[in-house]
Amino acid sequence: MIRIEQAAWDLMVAHAERTFPNECCGAMLGKVDGVDKTVTEAVAIENAFTGEQGARYEIRPEDLIAADKAARSRGLDLVGIFHSHPDCDAYFSKTDLENSCPWYSFVVLSIKGGKFDHANSFLPDPDQTRAEPEPVQFPGS
Ligand SMILES: [Zn+2]
Repeated sequence: MIRIEQAAWDLMVAHAERTFPNECCGAMLGKVDGVDKTVTEAVAIENAFTGEQGARYEIRPEDLIAADKAARSRGLDLVGIFHSHPDCDAYFSKTDLENSCPWYSFVVLSIKGGKFDHANSFLPDPDQTRAEPEPVQFPGS
């Protein structure tokens, strides 16, 4: 289960709606207690994909390392990655799976017509062959 607190959630939705119709991405910071995760802060990260960004995102390794450092400096963990699917449901795509890391939660926000619609979280396996849905709780859900 991953629980996203209000301030983090507000930033994630605002970032996803602002970057529409492109995909956005970012980091989720918080606490991990076994399988229970709490996201207390979110950080917007620039989509570094050089092609058409309507259905792709890419995070520079150095941006992810910076997010990890920022988390540690505040006594938090890098809990996961979020990104948006503009005018598309919040599923975990083949590309998402190929670019995943098994130790993070991946939250996908569906943005339809520029407004938040729904969100899902996924836990990719170490082989990057499948991703299990992870229960996600956010304000209003
Ligand atoms: Zn995706």
